[in-house]
Amino acid sequence: MNDLKFSREICERCETFDCLTRCQYLKMDFATAREERGRLLQGEKARVLEECVTCYACEEYCSHGNHPFYHIVERQEQLGIWPVPKPVTKQQILMMAPKGKISPKKVQSPVVNMCYFPMFTGSIRGKLFEGASTIVGSDFFCNVMWLHFGKNSVIRERLPEVIANIWEHYLSDSGVEELVCFHDECYGTYTRLAPAFGIKVPFKPVHIFDYLNKRLDELKDRIQPLGQKVAYQRSCSNRLVPETQPWVDEIFKKIGAERVDRKYDRENALCCGTIFRAQQKDDLADDVQKRNLDDMAATGAKFCVFSCPACLFTLGESVFKRGIMPILLNDLCQIALGEGMKGG
Ligand code: SF4
Ligand code: SF4
Repeated sequence: MNDLKFSREICERCETFDCLTRCQYLKMDFATAREERGRLLQGEKARVLEECVTCYACEEYCSHGNHPFYHIVERQEQLGIWPVPKPVTKQQILMMAPKGKISPKKVQSPVVNMCYFPMFTGSIRGKLFEGASTIVGSDFFCNVMWLHFGKNSVIRERLPEVIANIWEHYLSDSGVEELVCFHDECYGTYTRLAPAFGIKVPFKPVHIFDYLNKRLDELKDRIQPLGQKVAYQRSCSNRLVPETQPWVDEIFKKIGAERVDRKYDRENALCCGTIFRAQQKDDLADDVQKRNLDDMAATGAKFCVFSCPACLFTLGESVFKRGIMPILLNDLCQIALGEGMKGG
């Protein structure tokens, strides 16, 4: 069993408790945050363990890199606290288990890992992804989503096998060392979570934003600037890799899109709300989604860009009903390259 690299001493020396005072959902004052942190360190039951809505944001808020959210999840599991009802959690764990249906094949760069989203494989196309190979399915699923379910043990058990599947059946045999992560949850897994859990990653993960940025430079003569206002929906998993945020701004600039200034973007981003529904917190989901949509609509944005397919599934229809076109970032780039939407 790999131990979480979490330092009790760092938390004991901390004077800010930013992980809890900055939480948008728990609304804790400084004194309460200090008490709660103390309880977490002692391994006691704490309000945060019952009420954390698993938005991942405190991983970004802790300026000491001390993995407060992974630690919360660790404690939830140790104390038998289920953020999502137990039957739903058990059913999801069974449903999303590796199937062992791997058909090894030669792949070529760029190799794009589509995680558990086969329905988006068609968006790996055109000049942006010329010559790309894709891998997808339960056997390549990064499994970081179990953080939402208080189940670090499932990640620890499945992730080494997933990494071996990618490396041994595809990349290594084909002489490819880089893996482009379509879902930033995968990039967060390989660059943050795996090292925090002491799990080795033999390939180089490349974030989709980094890949798009470089491709847009190579294809700059083909870009027709969009000249549109675009809202951005930041995903929970992007909190694991906040250093990727400037790439979004660079991409917007390169394709002539204006990233609208809105309240719920960047560090103040709101969760799409899908996990709140799984937690049976429908009132919270309704409130958060309404505030988010009102905020987008007030900017006059024509598009809302998503980097996470799950956020797109959750909010896409509601965004569309507000007169805003929901779209993945790579598809927005395709439009700027004059390649339009698949089937559109
Ligand atoms: S997790 Fe980070 S922000 Fe929170 S108490 Fe520990 S060191 Fe401070
Ligand atoms: S994961 Fe989100 S909801 Fe939970 S404590 Fe951290 S910031 Fe708050």
